[in-house]
Amino acid sequence: MYKILKSYFGYTSFRPLQKEIITCILQKKDTLVLMPTGGGKSLCYQIPALMTEGTAIVVSPLISLMKDQVEALQDNGIIARALNSTNDETADAAIRFECRQGRVKLLYISPERLLNEINFLLKDIRISLFAIDEAHCISQWGHDFRPEYTRLNILREQFPQVPIVALTATADKITRQDILKQLSMRDPQVFISSFDRPNLSLDVKRGYQQKEKNRTILEFINRRAGESGIIYCMSRNTTEKVADMLEEHGISTAVYHAGLSTAARDAAQEDFINDRVQVVCATIAFGMGIDKSNVRWVIHYNLPKSIESFYQEIGRAGRDGLPSDTLLFYSFADIVLLSRFANESGQQELNMEKLKRMQQYAEADICRRRILLNYFGESMEHDCGNCDVCRNPPQRFNGTILVQKALSAIARTDQQIGTSTLIDILKGAASADIIERGYDKLKTYGVGRDIPARDWQDYLLQMLNLGYFEVAYNEKNHLKITEAGKKVLFGHEQAQLVVIKREAYEAKNKQKKKRAEPQAQALPMVFENENDQLFEALRVLRKKLADQQAIPAYIVLSDKVLHLLASSKPVTIEAFGEISGIGEYKKERYGKDFIKVIRQFVPQSE
Ligand code: ADP
Ligand code: ZN
Repeated sequence: MYKILKSYFGYTSFRPLQKEIITCILQKKDTLVLMPTGGGKSLCYQIPALMTEGTAIVVSPLISLMKDQVEALQDNGIIARALNSTNDETADAAIRFECRQGRVKLLYISPERLLNEINFLLKDIRISLFAIDEAHCISQWGHDFRPEYTRLNILREQFPQVPIVALTATADKITRQDILKQLSMRDPQVFISSFDRPNLSLDVKRGYQQKEKNRTILEFINRRAGESGIIYCMSRNTTEKVADMLEEHGISTAVYHAGLSTAARDAAQEDFINDRVQVVCATIAFGMGIDKSNVRWVIHYNLPKSIESFYQEIGRAGRDGLPSDTLLFYSFADIVLLSRFANESGQQELNMEKLKRMQQYAEADICRRRILLNYFGESMEHDCGNCDVCRNPPQRFNGTILVQKALSAIARTDQQIGTSTLIDILKGAASADIIERGYDKLKTYGVGRDIPARDWQDYLLQMLNLGYFEVAYNEKNHLKITEAGKKVLFGHEQAQLVVIKREAYEAKNKQKKKRAEPQAQALPMVFENENDQLFEALRVLRKKLADQQAIPAYIVLSDKVLHLLASSKPVTIEAFGEISGIGEYKKERYGKDFIKVIRQFVPQSE
């Protein structure tokens, strides 16, 4: 087991549960594996496949996922193939031939195709195991339901001797039980690993308006020159606007949403995977087919509709385990729109509840990671040190007067205004609408002049979350004072608001290099004596080698391996092969090229 781990994959130790899972599969037991994205699920069936005679059949729902896995395996010197609709007849025939000869160790196949082949090819070859990847697709309750998956129960019937391993990153109980039942698993062993992703930093920005959001995003990306990231937006329209904004500032960006043609979507995905664009602006439609290990950051331009969606989307960053950043923007308008969607959805109560939990996360004043893990039924004993609340705990002040100003303006307009008019009144804006409706004569007109409008946005969001007023979604989003609000308005209760902290960008820029320090305890790895220029040179070489073979750069070597090379600077092939993540095949194939570059940075070695 360890020998294969080292020689093919270049690793010396297993991640939590991997060894137990592999042992279980080798004992021919049916197994269910629940691990977060990036947890290392693939090795769990790939190693047994390599240790057992015959071919492992891997059922995978998406062509892009198959392609990625097959390329990665081949680049580790393992014979892997994929049968799917992109192959022509000749390619298929060749793969079938190789399978019959027993040469293929892992055969990736779509569920439709599997059902077609079940009485032909699969009967002719020796099957070591079945791996069902993205197994949550079997469940109608999940978010990626695929009807073909429900017919996979045929496997247990037709191949009673072959172990089945189902793998997924979706942990909820109903899905889990559905998988076991629908695959007719025999006395299944279930492995659930922690869903914590300590390498992902968590950050929330409340009440930013578009201009400020955009500026923050630009600063954020500029601090991460050349590093891949995804920006999730609520609407198709927004994805395009944000992409235009980035392009204007010289950041190469693709757009991905369900309104585009399949060809356009595929092109966007390919460009992103192959580092031809740095950023993708996307709706939730994007991501399932993305195995790219070096996505370094994920931004949510709008609040997601549930914690599940949020966690899945940020999970696409940092699969390689390196520190990666996530940033969530959260505005009044998001809440208004998402509440409307939830109310109009078939499952109003459920969706409103999910949105509430998401909102609570965004509003949290305790460690955000604790909230996330708690949501998934895991408890964490300590604060994470890698979220904005841990790094910068919110401070409160007595905001009673602010709340009273806002609520009294709402009351004096007979609760017939939304937030933007409210802010206009508080700021004493002389817009036509205000004058026409006579709001400039109100006693509260201009009482909030001293506070910037963007801060009012923030405070109003806080007041909404504290329950001082509600938004009447069926009345043009007008604000209605609640009982709790009245108590503050009439001075029976005090209101505590959170102090708004705006970032000083310049100061942060200077601290760029130090960024990782305060989080060090939470981060898995520090690269000592890393030479940044060498890293860049290695990155260039990696891209060249990748382009030559028409495979993504992260398949040649992961970002983590590049960092290790740039810090330990091996100058012999042997030393190169000792780096974690470099197996025999990569050592032979790439060692010489990389060493040549490294030597230029280590003069004494020449
Ligand atoms: P998942 O399918 O669970 O999202 P992957 O199987 O793609 O995760 O693994 C994520 C990353 O972790 C890959 O880059 C993989 O090479 C790496 N990895 C897996 N197992 C180990 C291990 N035992 N030691 C070091 N890295 C590992
Ligand atoms: Zn924290």
